[in-house]
Amino acid sequence: MCATVCSAESAATVASYRCRIVEHYWVNQRYKYIRLESDAPLAPITRPGQFYQLNCPATTEAQPFLLRPMSVYGAGPEAGRIEFLYNVTGVGTRAMATLPVDGHMDIVGPLGNTFTFAPSFRRVLLVARGVGLATMAPLVHQAAEAGAGITAVMSARTPGDLMEKEFLRGATAEVHSVFDSDGTSSVEAVEALLRRILAEQRPDAVYTCGSHRLLMLLQRVLQDHPAVLAEVAMEQRMACGMGVCLSCVRMFNCDGDKQFLRVCREGPVFRIREVVGEVEFG
Ligand SMILES: Cc1cc2nc3c(=O)[nH]c(=O)nc-3n(C[C@H](O)[C@H](O)[C@H](O)COP(=O)(O)OP(=O)(O)OC[C@H]3O[C@@H](n4cnc5c(N)ncnc54)[C@H](O)[C@@H]3O)c2cc1C
Repeated sequence: MCATVCSAESAATVASYRCRIVEHYWVNQRYKYIRLESDAPLAPITRPGQFYQLNCPATTEAQPFLLRPMSVYGAGPEAGRIEFLYNVTGVGTRAMATLPVDGHMDIVGPLGNTFTFAPSFRRVLLVARGVGLATMAPLVHQAAEAGAGITAVMSARTPGDLMEKEFLRGATAEVHSVFDSDGTSSVEAVEALLRRILAEQRPDAVYTCGSHRLLMLLQRVLQDHPAVLAEVAMEQRMACGMGVCLSCVRMFNCDGDKQFLRVCREGPVFRIREVVGEVEFG
């Protein structure tokens, strides 16, 4: 059996919610922030790592068919407040980007499980790339509230893509930024950085999201640190988001037993050590 990553225990509250758009603006050239307000108390039932399926609107240019999965970027302090940070990339998110403030959007959730976090953790290491920072921002908040030290390795194409302020949202962390543009995000450079942080800081837990390459690198370097809890939030293409269509299955190594698990239902958070990177057939 695969290790059970924290269940969010909110399956009974999964529902469709009609929300009012309170804020909606560009954070940089590719990412938009949207803040929704629901009459239902969504913040208390939404956990870090969970996601919602968003009903993107039909426009004259595009009619998005499926709902789009999006991690919760923030929830609360008001009970009805939910935030997302999203990359405007394809049909659905381009249509979503046109939604006006005071308009409405339907969302379904909260879906999936949550990161494992213990109040006894003294230090955590977060490794984020791209939109992975939206998924892990609530974890930054949780760790900061618990008084845990936070070390973040943030990877981006260029300094303009980094969004450090949006990631930390006022929390204090030791941040190591690495970029494609100057070569500091190369596997060799990041491996040396991660090995040094793990050896010197001995974090209780390591979390990652947003890059398969960083995930595989962490899996390798963590072999020398078997006691460290290590989790990844996976962003697999998915359709229903509720475990029915099976389009998001991935293979995991559960104590030597290879199993297909649904990212939407058994995840999206999994143990880094159990992810199978390359699937071998035959
Ligand atoms: C659990 C989860 C959390 C996510 N959180 C965020 C987030 O916080 N911010 C953010 O910007 N993006 C996030 N993504 C990725 C986001 O769902 C896709 O970027 C988005 O669906 C693209 O839709 P589109 O119509 O604009 O693009 P298109 O490429 O036109 O999408 C076509 C279809 O592919 C699916 N799809 C496309 N890319 C992805 C992807 N990377 N992952 C999963 N499905 C995809 C869409 O759902 C849609 O059904 C998340 C994905 C998952 C699975």
